[in-house]
Amino acid sequence: MAYAYDDQNIFAKILRGEIPNNTVLETPHSLAFHDIAPQAPVHVLVIPKGAYVNYDHFAAEASDAEIADYTRAIGEVCKMVEVAPGNDGGGYRLISNAGEAGVQEVPHLHVHVLGGRVLGRMLKKFDD
Ligand code: AMP
Repeated sequence: MAYAYDDQNIFAKILRGEIPNNTVLETPHSLAFHDIAPQAPVHVLVIPKGAYVNYDHFAAEASDAEIADYTRAIGEVCKMVEVAPGNDGGGYRLISNAGEAGVQEVPHLHVHVLGGRVLGRMLKKFDD
């Protein structure tokens, strides 16, 4: 089934400049900005500029140039916000929620870059 993209979602409005954002990095195909309700000392969202609902949509339909740009933008953000272990940062976690089970709120692909403290277990144990 093809994905339908809702161009009224909040990140589409950010990309059109209709609402403000606190930008960390902008590249030809990607935008990174601070999450409005951070859940860790470092909480940055990285989005592609293209109209993709989630990661599998992006992986299937984005161009190689978009995918390369987006992947490198995420890595660059990790360095810029000083969480990349290879640059003496304390580490980070990348999360990309999709759909109902993933509890995705905004239907435009985004990767959360989280860090700045020890983040704890990835998920509660399956049988908790
Ligand atoms: P998700 O649940 O993965 O869809 O996450 C959506 C994220 O978008 C949440 O962490 C929100 O805090 C964040 N968010 C919603 N509106 C904005 C906004 N205007 N600027 C920055 N982050 C936002």
